Parts: sequence; structure tokens; C-alpha cells
Amino acid sequence: MSFKPANNIQDLQYFGEFGGVNPSISDSSTYTFLSAKTMFDTFEGNAEGCYLYSRHSSPSNLYLGQALASMEGTEAATVTASGMGAITAVLMQLCGSGEHIVSSRTIYGGTYAFLKNFAPRMGMETSFVDITDLDKVENSITPKTKILYCESVSNPLLEVADLTALAKIAQKHDLKLIVDNTFSPLSISPKILGADVVIHSLTKFINGSSDTVGGVVCGSQEFIDSLRNVNDGAAMLLGSTMDSLRSASILKNLRTLHIRMQQHSKNALYLAEQFENLGLKTVYPGLKSHASHELFKSMMNKAYGYGGMLTIDVGSLEKANALMELMQERNLGYLAVSLGFYKTLFSAPGSSTSSEIPEEEQKEMGLSEGLIRFSIGLDADIERTFQRMHQAMKDLNVL
Ligand SMILES: *Cc1c(COP(=O)(O)O)cnc(C)c1O
Repeated sequence: MSFKPANNIQDLQYFGEFGGVNPSISDSSTYTFLSAKTMFDTFEGNAEGCYLYSRHSSPSNLYLGQALASMEGTEAATVTASGMGAITAVLMQLCGSGEHIVSSRTIYGGTYAFLKNFAPRMGMETSFVDITDLDKVENSITPKTKILYCESVSNPLLEVADLTALAKIAQKHDLKLIVDNTFSPLSISPKILGADVVIHSLTKFINGSSDTVGGVVCGSQEFIDSLRNVNDGAAMLLGSTMDSLRSASILKNLRTLHIRMQQHSKNALYLAEQFENLGLKTVYPGLKSHASHELFKSMMNKAYGYGGMLTIDVGSLEKANALMELMQERNLGYLAVSLGFYKTLFSAPGSSTSSEIPEEEQKEMGLSEGLIRFSIGLDADIERTFQRMHQAMKDLNVL
């Protein structure tokens, strides 16, 4: 594939007010106008390049949005205060009372909880399906369906969505394909494969320093304008706005994303191969044993690898907890949710990040209680890390 997301970021040029190599931060909530007429036109969305009020847009947020749109190959993007702020705004913009969503059943716990428990209060119904079963996906579509929703690589089971095939189904039924690409930035470019809207939690790999939450919606200029519309735009009216100081710091971190993703992927592939060799049930899209290894390969931007996320199953929650505590004690990573940090992070999703999903449903989708989800860090010496992890597993009789 010839799409080069990191080049697109690299090629952007921004200068600060005094010729600085970083853009100036717009430290203002409101903006003055020389003429009252221009203020009115800005409200109506007809004054290009004018700023009104920072919940609507700000120069710093536009810079970050532009960089992320370039990364995903979309016309435009708008940043939000969190990943959930992006997801809920998109779902509510495109779907309303009496309408229907077809969603992958293995999605981020917060997204699942929103669709399952909150959206019905607004008359929005969701069918949760196995996203790898394309017939099931298509058969779940009704005349009321507006949205097909999935994650390119799902949380926490690392199922891979066939985005090209899903885009065809969406097009055939006049649905919007919305893809949460949080687990695979740079590796997978959903828009290039046919998605209509691409969402990220910037909290994770993209910012990469676990110091803030943030989100982004990437899509057509028309859709992004609709989200920001002062009269009926969900991003504008629900108020999930990113602060300019934060968007400036995320933009600076974004510039090293390509190097970080290469290292996350390299380390994760090494550990996944070693864990599998030890006989552990290991899930990583870069392993030939992964059901969607070939599919991931066919969709990926090769330079960035298969991502930094992997899971192992150690058989029981007790063993999982003991291993995670010991690994933390030995400074091999942190027992923490979230992902995309320089340190390895691990958690047992069944009792943490996916605890919103009822136990029976967890079982049905293959989310076992002994599952440990790893976000592999940027360790310079991953062989040493593996040896220490192996020792911890031996000490606890996990193997
Ligand atoms: C973390 C996460 C979210 C939610 O993002 P926040 O920034 O925490 O609101 C959504 N989707 C995925 C896949 C995530 O990992």
C-alpha cells in the first residue's frame, strides 16, 4: 500500500507567532472581531479562518486536528476532550430516536456501556455482533440501521475487522462505517480502506505519555463541520472540548508516534513469539496462529508492525493477579489500565476495563478470567524483559 501516514504528518509546517518552530498556543476562550458582520458570519459558519469561541474551535485544536486528519487521510478532523467524547458525539450526530446501530460485540467497555445502557434512553438501539462473521453483520442490518461500528483491532480480544468488506456492506445499505482505530494508529488506515469516520482515543498510543485524556474524530469536511455546527453539532453542543494547552502538547508527542509504534510493535512481536514458544495461549495479530493474521497483513502499513497490544491466558484470575503483582514488584511494568505508555502496562480485562460487559457475554465472546492484556512498552532491551517475565512465571508456577 502506498499510503504514508507518517510522511503526511512530517510534511506539515506550522510556525509560531514569532517564527517559533512550534505553533503558538491560543490561550484564549474568546476572540475579538473588527466588524460585527464578521462575527455574525462566523456564527453561521461562513467566515473561513475566523475564531469565535474555543468550544467551537481554536487555532491549537485546528492544528492538531489537521495533523490527525493528515495521518488518517481524511479531509478534516476535530479533537475532543476524551476518546469517549469523540465516540458519543459521533454516535449521537448520526443516529437518533427510533434508529439502530450494528456494533461489534468486542469493543471498548465504555463504548459498550454507552450503547447498551445509555443510548436506549434516547431511543437508539444496538445489535452487538461478532464482527468477524460478515453474514451475521449483514443480517443484523434493519431498515432503521444508520451506523456500522467497530474497532480495527478490538479491545481486549484483538479481533481484527475486515474493514474493506465492512465498508462494502455499509455502502450497500447506505450506512456510515465508524471505526475506532485506537489500538492501531499508523499500522492501519481505516479511511483508506473505506471507513467513513475514524475515531481515536488520543489518551493511548498517539499521545503516548499517559498524562492526559483526549480524542479525535476524522472524517469528511462536511461531517466535521456538522459536528461543530453551533445549532445542531454534537461536538459543539455536548461540550467535550479539548483545551488548547493540551492539544499543543499532544501535537508535539504525535511527531514521534512513528518511532514509538515501530518499537512497541517490535517488542510486542518478540514477546508474543516467546510467550507462544513457552506454550502460553497468546493472542497477537503478528503471530501466524492469530485467526486474522493474514487479514491484518493485507490491511497494514507495513513499516509500523502489528501494534503494541497482546494477551496471554494464564488459566485463572488468581494466577493472573499474582503474576501481574509480581511483574510490577520486579519493575517489568505497571498494573494499570490504559495503553501506549513507555512502560509496559497490564491488567485483567474481565475484572477491569471490560467489567461493564456481563459475565455470560464475556464468556460467549471468549473473554476468559485468566486473560491478561499487555500494552508492551518501549523497553530498549526486550530480551532482558522477557527473561525476567519468564522467571516471574516460573516462580509462580504459571507455566
Ligand atoms: C481508551 C479507549 C477509548 C476511550 O477513550 P478515553 O480517552 O478514555 O475516553 C475508546 N476506545 C478504545 C479502543 C480505547 O482503548
